[in-house]
Amino acid sequence: MATLKCPKCNSVDAVRNGIVNQRQRFRCKKCNYNFTVGKVGKGISTYYVIKALQLYIEGVSFREIERLLGISHVSVMNWVKKYQIKIPENNTYHPTYKILNHRELVEFYSDRKNTEGAGMIVTELGDKFMLIKWERFKE
Ligand SMILES: [Zn+2]
Repeated sequence: MATLKCPKCNSVDAVRNGIVNQRQRFRCKKCNYNFTVGKVGKGISTYYVIKALQLYIEGVSFREIERLLGISHVSVMNWVKKYQIKIPENNTYHPTYKILNHRELVEFYSDRKNTEGAGMIVTELGDKFMLIKWERFKE
C-alpha cells in the first residue's frame, strides 16, 4: 500500500478500512482521513476474498460476513461456489469472534484465562484484528 497517497495530506501511510459502495476504502494513518481508490466492483481485492472465505470455513454465516467485512453476502456465496469451498460438518465447535485493536489484543492475551479451553486464530482486518475463538460444547 506504500504507493497510495492520502489526498488530504499526501502521506503514503494508509491502511485498508473496509469497502464502501464496492470501493476499497483507506484510512490515512497520519490525519485519519478516509478515502477510496478505484472501483473494486467485480474484482474485490484478493485480501477480502481470502478473509471472507476464512470466515466462511470457520462457520461464520454469510450475513455476519457481510456485516463484518462490508462485502455483500451474494459476493461471498459466489466465491464459495467459484472456489468450491466445502466445510466439514461441525457440531462440536462454535466459533465466536471479536474485533480488537492492537492494544485490546495484547490485553486479551495477557489474561491467561482467555487462552484456556479454546483454540483461536487472529487475522488482520483493516487496521484492526479479528480474533476467532472456538469453544467446545460440553455434551
Ligand atoms: Zn492524510
